[in-house]
Amino acid sequence: MKNISILGSTGSIGRNALNVISKFPDKFKITGLTAGKNISLLIDQINTFHPDVVAVSDEETYEALKAMMSDRHHSTKVLHGVEGICSVASMPDADIVISAIVGAAGLLPTISAIRAGKTIALANKETLVMAGDIVMSEVKKSGVSLLPVDSEHSAIFQCINGCKMSSIRKLILTASGGPFFGRTIAELGDVRPEDALRHPNWSMGRKISIDSATLMNKGLEVIEAHHLFGMPADRIDVLVHPQSIIHSIVEFNDGSYTAQLSSPDMKGPIAYALSFPERLAGVMKPLEWEKLSGLTFHKPDNKTFPSLSLAYSAIKAGGTMPAVLNASNEIAVNAFLDEVIGFRDIPVIIKKVMDSHRLQPADTIEVVLKADRWAREETNKELNK
Ligand code: NAD
Ligand code: MG
Repeated sequence: MKNISILGSTGSIGRNALNVISKFPDKFKITGLTAGKNISLLIDQINTFHPDVVAVSDEETYEALKAMMSDRHHSTKVLHGVEGICSVASMPDADIVISAIVGAAGLLPTISAIRAGKTIALANKETLVMAGDIVMSEVKKSGVSLLPVDSEHSAIFQCINGCKMSSIRKLILTASGGPFFGRTIAELGDVRPEDALRHPNWSMGRKISIDSATLMNKGLEVIEAHHLFGMPADRIDVLVHPQSIIHSIVEFNDGSYTAQLSSPDMKGPIAYALSFPERLAGVMKPLEWEKLSGLTFHKPDNKTFPSLSLAYSAIKAGGTMPAVLNASNEIAVNAFLDEVIGFRDIPVIIKKVMDSHRLQPADTIEVVLKADRWAREETNKELNK
């Protein structure tokens, strides 16, 4: 039996993870859950999974949650704030922590879990984008396993399958292309948040759905793959594959390739991270091979979707630049969702903020968080111009 805590249990990944866990009650038990503000769903999850501890993002949400809880919940302790979430992340009873908070808010809890020696199932890619070198050295120091949940990284992890990194020439991350694949830049002038949120293959949270539409998601994933697999970014390619059946590819130096295929269903990579090196039976629907004759591949259109190039520039610059890219993107995406800026403004604003950043080595979390705060302020200034 493995004890599991989920950071961000009310989100898309969190709900998928609970779905997987609920099907294997003899293998997994929930010890801790954390949520942002969605307390009605959190109460349902407490009723179903009886965690020892839960935490929510702030005091107001905490008070509202406490008011909704009754005697039947007496065995669940409730915490709040970053400290409360970090306590859940590091609680002694948990074996595995699923890191599935969205955005920079996932960084400190993930580091807490690593320092507490937990196996990490990592969905929160922003943690590695912001502070990849620091996080990977913490992973090494604590001797924990950091298992990818992001489908591309899970695919690469499965494809490498114990091979020596020296025999790998390239990692090829596949991208669906998002809802606007094939459009020209002129055709993106008047797209609305609801158009951008309508992903063709995956059902995901709002932020990552917009990141998929701009291709920033793939950019963040290039940086994530660089840190997870120790591969220089110029040997990580992106290939648009609109059917989302091949989740990524490893190219070996003898000219051979391995690819991982499945239906586009996050329950697959989540289950693999929880059960590695075993596999859980029946997690995803089998592929219907005869329907797969139309798998296609395309180069990304960097002119129409400049965010991917911004991510390559950020990792090339190194230091605090990826944290600036990430923070500026979070603010710009929210501004687009709030209809303050247009879809095409997102990368323009991020580029301005990156261009005005004074790069620093990212050797401590404090430096990274300072760069994150600076980029948020600077992006807000750009939005108010
Ligand atoms: P989501 O928006 O659906 O859920 C986010 C979760 O984080 C929720 O539980 C929310 O309450 C919590 N949260 C948000 N802000 C918080 C804060 N300030 N403090 C504490 N908790 C907070 O997001 P998602 O789509 O589930 O994505 C989660 C992470 O997984 C992201 O980093 C995303 O890039 C990554 N990811 C998601 C998918 C997917 O299919 N959804 C695939 C690959 C990777
Ligand atoms: Mg992904």
